[in-house]
Amino acid sequence: MRRVLVIGGSLGGLIAAHMLRSTGWEAVVFERNEEELASRGVGLGTHPQLIAILKRAGIAFDETMGIKVPKVVCLDRDGKIIVEQPTVRTMSGWARLYRALRDALPAQNYRLGKNLRRVEQDGSGITAHFADGTRERGELLVGADGIRSTVRAQYLPQAQPAYAGYVAWRAVLDEDLVPPEIRHEIFDLYTFCLPEGEQLLAYPVPGRDNDTTIGRRAYNIVWYRPTDVNTLADLCTDAAGRHHAAGIPPPLIRPEVIAGVKAEAKVLVAPQIAEIFARTTPFFQPIYDLESPQLVFGRAVLTGDAAFVARPHVGAGTTKAAIDAASLADSIRDAGGALGAELNRYERMQLPFGAEMVALGRRQGAYLSAQLKPEEERSAEELHRDIDDVLRAHGTRSEQVRAIVNARGLDVHVQAPM
Ligand SMILES: Cc1cc2nc3c(=O)[nH]c(=O)nc-3n(C[C@H](O)[C@H](O)[C@H](O)COP(=O)(O)OP(=O)(O)OC[C@H]3O[C@@H](n4cnc5c(N)ncnc54)[C@H](O)[C@@H]3O)c2cc1C
Repeated sequence: MRRVLVIGGSLGGLIAAHMLRSTGWEAVVFERNEEELASRGVGLGTHPQLIAILKRAGIAFDETMGIKVPKVVCLDRDGKIIVEQPTVRTMSGWARLYRALRDALPAQNYRLGKNLRRVEQDGSGITAHFADGTRERGELLVGADGIRSTVRAQYLPQAQPAYAGYVAWRAVLDEDLVPPEIRHEIFDLYTFCLPEGEQLLAYPVPGRDNDTTIGRRAYNIVWYRPTDVNTLADLCTDAAGRHHAAGIPPPLIRPEVIAGVKAEAKVLVAPQIAEIFARTTPFFQPIYDLESPQLVFGRAVLTGDAAFVARPHVGAGTTKAAIDAASLADSIRDAGGALGAELNRYERMQLPFGAEMVALGRRQGAYLSAQLKPEEERSAEELHRDIDDVLRAHGTRSEQVRAIVNARGLDVHVQAPM
């Protein structure tokens, strides 16, 4: 059986392994973490393409996989609903998808504690060298190792993430810890708060143990806040004065930073949301754009966030990784000995797709990025945000993703092959 090495054992790597297995390859995933990956309970928006590709992998997206939100609302500073619209989003959680994908993969095909150092190729195959001194050989290697990809760094050192000028503060609270009157009022809704220059959204997600039953769910908050590079450097500095350039681990965020953002929530966002936020231990993720000008390097291929990172406004990072995986599997499905033409086909399809997804995310985050510019340099759109436009963009996200998928002819990869 032909063997593919998948580097990175998060959602993108797992979906790639499932897709390649479904085309008859032996896929082995190598994840650098020593222990099973754990999420901080964060939510994950889904799109129909992700659900269809999971189905291809044999994973049914039933009611235990996510929570349907019926309505999107915008709350003003006093907590009053100022706009409301029906919506059809299903909100899942990183951990829920991870569990389903991980459980469906044989244990021997998922190896923890395998930190890729470098890749070597020759005429007949590709070798992955790991930090523990071991090596593995395959015919193909998939770099699904995220925004700081080691595979990409080896072949494309010039492709670096570009900071978008804002961070996402994220927080999750168990449903039973949400005050009952607030739970009753907003828990089931997709909620926006739009303080000047900022954007906060909140929605229900599966709770601990991925439970979607009422009373055992969780509430997820994402708060986008413009943050200049000096402030970001300070936020990424721990109490011992150490600076974490590639992102500070949440437990090391200084207590006064967390107290500060909670105090600002009380001033800036609706009181219901500020109340929930105050009961959490929030952490932040800087937002980046990343574009790779090339995805195939001989027998090494980039997918998911290793290839392109689109800002999270579209909620489609995992959907994008799944489409990459399905496209790769379909491109090499009937490959004979060499993989050249098949991999070139994958690159031809996924390069423009990734670039368009990044452009979509950039457009949706332009108002937030513009906050760091002097007012006189901002366009009218960057100066004034229309609440209806924000909700309309939310309501049409799946259509925007579908338009890009269809325009690129990628819809065929989403469907199970005949
Ligand atoms: C604020 C925010 C909100 C988001 N919201 C959503 C959403 O609602 N919906 C959605 O679909 N997406 C969302 N995303 C994006 C989503 O998290 C990713 O796009 C998606 O999970 C695909 O990730 P990936 O598997 O390609 O990379 P990652 O999840 O980054 O995984 C990379 C894996 O590779 C491993 N690794 C790295 N280097 C090595 C190495 N050298 N050797 C071995 N292993 C290695 C890492 O440990 C990690 O497990 C959001 C992102 C952010 C920042």
